[in-house]
Amino acid sequence: MTYDFDLLVIGAGSGGVRCARIAAGHGARVAVVEARHWGGTCVNLGCVPKKLMVQATEYGEWAEDSRGFGWDMARGTHDWERFIGRKDHEIERLNAIYVRLLEDAGVRLFTGHARFEDAHTLLIGPGPLAPHAEPRRVTAARIVIATGGKPVVQPHIEGQELGIVSDDAFHLKARPDRITIVGSGYIGVEFAGIFAGLGAQATMLYRQKLPLRGFDMDMRQALDEAMGERGIVRHAGALLHRIERDRSALKLTLTDGRELASDMVFFAVGRQPNAAGLGLDNTRVRVTDSGRVITHAGAVTDEPNIFAIGDVTNHQNLTPVAIAEGHILADRLFSGSVREWCFDTVPKAVFFSPPLASVGLTEDEAAAKGPADIYCARFRSMRHVLSGRNRHTTLKLVVDGTSQVVLGAHMLGEEAPEIMQGLAIAVTAGLRKSDFDRTVGIHPSSAEEFVTLRTRTRVAGATGASSHSGVQEVPA
Ligand code: FAD
Repeated sequence: MTYDFDLLVIGAGSGGVRCARIAAGHGARVAVVEARHWGGTCVNLGCVPKKLMVQATEYGEWAEDSRGFGWDMARGTHDWERFIGRKDHEIERLNAIYVRLLEDAGVRLFTGHARFEDAHTLLIGPGPLAPHAEPRRVTAARIVIATGGKPVVQPHIEGQELGIVSDDAFHLKARPDRITIVGSGYIGVEFAGIFAGLGAQATMLYRQKLPLRGFDMDMRQALDEAMGERGIVRHAGALLHRIERDRSALKLTLTDGRELASDMVFFAVGRQPNAAGLGLDNTRVRVTDSGRVITHAGAVTDEPNIFAIGDVTNHQNLTPVAIAEGHILADRLFSGSVREWCFDTVPKAVFFSPPLASVGLTEDEAAAKGPADIYCARFRSMRHVLSGRNRHTTLKLVVDGTSQVVLGAHMLGEEAPEIMQGLAIAVTAGLRKSDFDRTVGIHPSSAEEFVTLRTRTRVAGATGASSHSGVQEVPA
């Protein structure tokens, strides 16, 4: 049987684009189908526009902080429409770069919505990018599902249709004066920071006691304080019951009967893999009840010539992970040598101001495995001693109590993601606390604290539990 292509990739997002480009570089005949936007979620409705929005918030604070350094700058007002226009212009530029990258690699591009007719045939029909496309059939020896995910609204809430999700937040015509964010995962936290930083009153509602479930407890605590310092109102342990229109505003009723007024409700309660509508019933590919595509070693699905990578598999939903999975798959299918990545120490960042970043195990995860030495520090950075802003940096090392290998590093503070990328190499390499100790610091910096933490704060896990008995305060 001859096919139109050696490899057909559904979805030109982080994973799909990398997979297609690398496969084409290995000499395969490759095509990509994209329904909505070149570059996928990260470029259009995720990491990139989100980070630009976070950066937009920083200028207001810097203007305020500059007074402590002798400047006489006023915070002024922010022009939402002008900023969104500039942001959209940049995203269009990136879209064009993605198309060029694929074309230059020799990848054939199809616009439209792809659907399986059988394990080797896709029907490409109209989609948002090509609403009037004539349906066409394309065949391939191997097909990769790289269709990502989409945001969901919280089910069982009356009036849920009055809320928005992250996709909408990037294209609002105007900034709401009051916004209520439901959910405290990283997207909820980041957008609370964005709206608060651009002048809105931001309120958060979440089920947990502290935001950012899954992150280290000391970092969650420090983030909670930082959110308070930014004026974000947090309702922990609160559940939304109903949203009603109340003249030009919204009335929110919580399950405990409390009522709140807001101009906008933003659901940041999770994402759903994009597997429905792909015609998977026409193949042997299986999905879980929650809708993620089931894969086995080598990213292969239950259909031997169909593979799945990135968010549609709901493993670690991050752009660098999708990229790595796409790269590894293309290498494995079309070349003799496969580039290796370590997925146990994927660093993560939450782009709040100040940002939070971490790599490796949390204190609780380490304590569950055995005794862990915990080193923590909290201090006010040089900048904020002068700016007068009540902002602290918190950092932490989690060290295996027996081998002294550094299992985790965590930080909330300015430039934490930039610092953590470097520390991730040390944690991935399995370096010991003594390697950190013999490393000379860069002075004056916040990062140097990671190599000067001498006094153990506590031992966790010796009795199977962590005490979280606090963070050592370092004088400014
Ligand atoms: P995607 O990038 O989602 O690409 C999938 C593509 O498939 C889409 O373009 C879609 O249109 C297309 N598609 C879907 N179905 C079909 C079909 N049937 N036919 C044709 N095309 C189809 N990650 C980070 O690492 N750092 C961050 O700071 C970060 N911030 C984020 C902020 C937000 C608000 C969101 C929503 C996500 C963020 N992420 C971040 C996550 C990151 O965007 C995703 O992990 C990443 O984009 C996943 O890549 P992917 O290739 O799996 O899918």
